[in-house]
Amino acid sequence: MSTYDVAVIGSGPGGYVAAIRCAQLGLKTAIIEKYSTMGGTCLNVGCIPSKALLDSSHHYEDALKHFEDHGIEIPGEVKLNLEKMMSRKATVVEQTTKGIAFLMDKNKVDTYEGIGSFKDKTHINIASAEGEDVTIEAKHTIIATGSKPSSLPFIDLDKERIITSTEALKLKEVPKHMLVIGGGVIGLELGQVYKRLGAEVTVIEYMDRIIPTMDAAQSKELAKVMKKQKVKFALSHKVTAVENTGDEVVIKATDKKGKEVEFKGDYCLVSVGRRPFTDGLEADNAGIKLNDRKQVEVNEHLQTNVENIYAIGDVIKGAMLAHKAEEEGIFVAETIAGQKPHIDYNLIPGVVYTWPEVASVGKTEEQLKEDKVEYASGQFPMRALGRSRASGDIEGFVKILTSKETDEVLGVHMVGARAADLIAEAVVAMEFRASAEDIARMSHAHPTYAEAVKEAALAATGNRALHV
Ligand code: FAD
Repeated sequence: MSTYDVAVIGSGPGGYVAAIRCAQLGLKTAIIEKYSTMGGTCLNVGCIPSKALLDSSHHYEDALKHFEDHGIEIPGEVKLNLEKMMSRKATVVEQTTKGIAFLMDKNKVDTYEGIGSFKDKTHINIASAEGEDVTIEAKHTIIATGSKPSSLPFIDLDKERIITSTEALKLKEVPKHMLVIGGGVIGLELGQVYKRLGAEVTVIEYMDRIIPTMDAAQSKELAKVMKKQKVKFALSHKVTAVENTGDEVVIKATDKKGKEVEFKGDYCLVSVGRRPFTDGLEADNAGIKLNDRKQVEVNEHLQTNVENIYAIGDVIKGAMLAHKAEEEGIFVAETIAGQKPHIDYNLIPGVVYTWPEVASVGKTEEQLKEDKVEYASGQFPMRALGRSRASGDIEGFVKILTSKETDEVLGVHMVGARAADLIAEAVVAMEFRASAEDIARMSHAHPTYAEAVKEAALAATGNRALHV
């Protein structure tokens, strides 16, 4: 029987990063993945394929609607080849997942394909698809089994017309009318993909705003821009039934006045969140506790109730984000190696890759009010930037929230072109506990979208923005 210092179950961004870091630290490491490709949700059916389709559909929309503004004329009709778009996405996924297999080899991490399940605290059975079983012994195990799309109890996901993000990433036709249940990140990103490709899109959301966990100003701005893009929103609607009649998908919902309403389309994307995935893990055999949300319960060291077993990523509490899972993977590897790592969960940024992009870090204005923190706010509109005018991406803003007392940056929230990249500046600033004055006094290259960060910092410190 092979023996390891560390066995990692699951090869998503949490698991594979943990395995690399363990190997770097000299620990003999194995990684177990039930699918034939590495990379988990993120690389196979999440971050990477969704961004590939967002980029392709963005190009298509530009060619259809915006090239002309730039003086680019296309003789003949701009046509969509969905099959090719999907095949490009598949190639991107394939190259990326192969890259992880390469990294495992390079770092001398042993890989096992099959379902990993606990026999006891130190033994893991690996059942391959071919029906062969192998047992390995591990001093430490890291559970990184991730999550799966969740649904509502009354929805029968037929995966043909009533679908999750996994199917939405490989449709063979553009829906005529895609009904999206859930106005969170995944619903909006994939909704925007199919809107750009020509579908009518209606987003039905239970809360009174989209992306409800982000700053309310971002929800408002993104809804405004997406409405201009002709996406329809039904907010404060509680879905009560979803049926595929064969001809169409019918959704019944009650609006905020309690009136029953119906939505009809040909596809329904159910994007109401994701559930932690522990099926087949046989956590009980090792005595591992799950909480009432079926997450693996962990302490502040990400250690389960069983001393030598840790858990990271989507399968534990916290934001379901690839980079959160990665940070936790490194944290646990270093903890096992005897180091004392640290994660500041307040500084894990959140991003929506619609266009314009939406990005956030730190406290929202709503949280500061709830916590009764005295704060100042500075906001700067993207449309006032030379860079935005040059590219035509004039939607959005950067908003910086600071402590009224000390001027320390407490939260940065933005909507705009390349916000997903711009938020890194805010993370760095907050990691070093910068004040808005610090950001305001740093030179930002001109013309860039990043100038909006400087201008918002100027606005937060005595209303000194220069270009509004
Ligand atoms: P996962 O990536 O879910 O990986 C878990 C792995 O464990 C899987 O490969 C699974 O097969 C394997 N596994 C499970 N049980 C076993 C077992 N018993 N034995 C062996 N293997 C097992 N996050 C972002 O940060 N940015 C984005 O842009 C983004 N976009 C997304 C878009 C979509 C459409 C979706 C669905 C998600 C997106 N996410 C994004 C979320 C991101 O994918 C997850 O937060 C991330 O993948 C979690 O990583 P993980 O390592 O915890 O688990």
